[in-house]
Order: sequence, then C-alpha cells, then structure tokens
Amino acid sequence: MNYILEANKLCKKYGRNTVLNELDLHVPKGAIYGLIGRNGAGKTTFMRLVAGLIRSNGGDCKLMEVSINSKQINDIRRKMSTIIEVPAFYPDITVRENVIEMCRLREVEDYSIADEYLKLVSLDKDAGKRASKLSLGMKQRLGIAMAMVGNPEIILLDEPMNGLDPQGIIDIRNIILDLNKNRNITFVISSHLLDELSKVATHYGFISDGRLIREISAEEIKKDGNTTTTVVTPDTVKLAVLLDSMKLQYEIKSSSEAVVFAQLDLEEFMPQAKEAGIEINSLTVNSESLENVYLNTMGNKENC
Ligand code: ATP
Repeated sequence: MNYILEANKLCKKYGRNTVLNELDLHVPKGAIYGLIGRNGAGKTTFMRLVAGLIRSNGGDCKLMEVSINSKQINDIRRKMSTIIEVPAFYPDITVRENVIEMCRLREVEDYSIADEYLKLVSLDKDAGKRASKLSLGMKQRLGIAMAMVGNPEIILLDEPMNGLDPQGIIDIRNIILDLNKNRNITFVISSHLLDELSKVATHYGFISDGRLIREISAEEIKKDGNTTTTVVTPDTVKLAVLLDSMKLQYEIKSSSEAVVFAQLDLEEFMPQAKEAGIEINSLTVNSESLENVYLNTMGNKENC
C-alpha cells in the first residue's frame, strides 16, 4: 500500500504527560482520512508534529516516504498544507490579498491563481472584502483557498467544521470532496462530528490516549459482514429452515424475531418467504454506522 503519511511508534511527551504513545497511523494516498478521538486524545498534537511545529520524543513519521526527522523534510512539507486549530490570515487586508500573501510566502509567482482558488471555495465575489469581516464559514473557506497555494498533495484540517452552521458544513464538505476527487488531494481531517465525517471520509483512525486503537476503511464498515437484517415474523421456525437453505447465518432472538447477519435482498427473499408460507411483519436492514464502530471500538464511556 502506498501511504502518503505514515506514523510508526510516534511519541510525544509534555513533561511527564505522554500525549502520543507509540502512535501508528497509515494514510493512503488519495484518501480522506478521518481522525477520531475524544478531547485530549492527541489529534492536534499529531498534526502539529507532522507540520513541524513541535518535535517528537521517539518513533517516526514519514510524509511522502521522507522521515519528519530527516533534513529533506522541509522540501517535502512544501507539498503539504495545514489548518491547525483556526485558519491563520491577516484580518486587516482583503480576502484576495491574503491569498497573495500566501503566494509570496510559498514563492508562487503567479498571483492570478488567487482568483482561481477563491472561485474554488466560492469566495470570488468576496475577494475585495476585508478578511476580518468574514463569517466563520467564510474564514474556513478562505483558509482552504490559502491552503491550496503551491498545489499541495495533502492537506491537514483540524476540526474544519467546528462551529459552522448547516450551510457552512455543507460548503466545507463539498469543497473537500471536490478537491479530493478533481485534484487528487489527500485530506486528514480531525472531527468530532461523526455523522459529518462519515459523509466524506474514505478511511478512519480511532485515537485514544495518544494510541491508535483501530484503523478501518469506509468500505470495510459497509461490508456485508457488518450489516444485519432484522426480520419480525410469527413463523421463526419456518424462517430458520429457509435461511438454512439460503446458507445465511442468523440468530433467532425470540419467537417473533430473527437477526440475519447479511443484507437480505428483498426481491430475492420475499418471493421465497411467500412460497415457504412465512408471514413477514417487518424487515429492517441495519447498516453498520460510523457511530456504532466508534462505540464498539472506544466503548460507551468515551464521549466523542
Ligand atoms: P481536542 O479534540 O480537544 O482538540 P486533541 O485530541 O486535539 O483534543 P491535543 O490538543 O493533541 O488533543 O492534546 C492532547 C494532550 O496534550 C492534552 O492532554 C493536552 O492538554 C496536552 N497538550 C497539548 N499541547 C500541550 C502543550 N503545549 N503543553 C502541555 N500539554 C499540552
């Protein structure tokens, strides 16, 4: 597997407080990787380490196969953008001028890309506005336009949807999906909004107390093995015979309910149930949700 970002036994301590405890993490190229964990789990610390804002106390992390401890890492970091905690910009100059400032900082000579990036985040009409006058959602979008300068291959976003109204959340979601799909930008996004994260992420990493507890792809979550169908019927005995003949795994929960460990295909199942004389009162497909995976992985005691 080609990982654009990879941590191996990464450690960070503040005094006696071990914040990252041999953290392992693998971000495939082209992924939208959701970093999930309760407050204080170490998500921001991980991003700060990758960005070079702080140094590790052990282990390693590779960005595009270059160790963050190596001398070449500064060249590699040019291919990465980060928005950690809040987007940084100058409040007293305009939106466009902020993007141009970022061009100067990143030694991008073609300032006309400022308008292209502002259009990407639907801020083209506000390009002349003073940055301090922007709403929170607009500030996040300006942050992403500035992050685009230098054509990064990977963007790290720390809680990009925090505090945004529903429209702001939808805007950021669409921008992330667009940049991922059309510009092949890999994203690492920390977020507490599991439902929102599940609408964009292709992979997840669950962090608790500075350790990676589990990594799982959205595809694995969706897999049949994680989907069940609850069948309510007065004919559980006949149902068991039919499910056996269909070679499906199931559990009879009571005299009126069975859980099948698969997603039943209604068009295939209903005629067979009718033919077998089984009365079906209801049939519910229970897809595994990110929230269920979170609860199963982290335990109910941790509130995200
Ligand atoms: P949140 O979801 O609340 O942003 P997080 O997962 O991003 O949490 P971090 O901000 O990485 O968590 O913090 C992890 C731990 O490191 C916390 O216990 C925090 O108090 C501690 N910490 C972070 N920065 C420092 C610092 N500069 N000095 C001392 N401790 C710190």
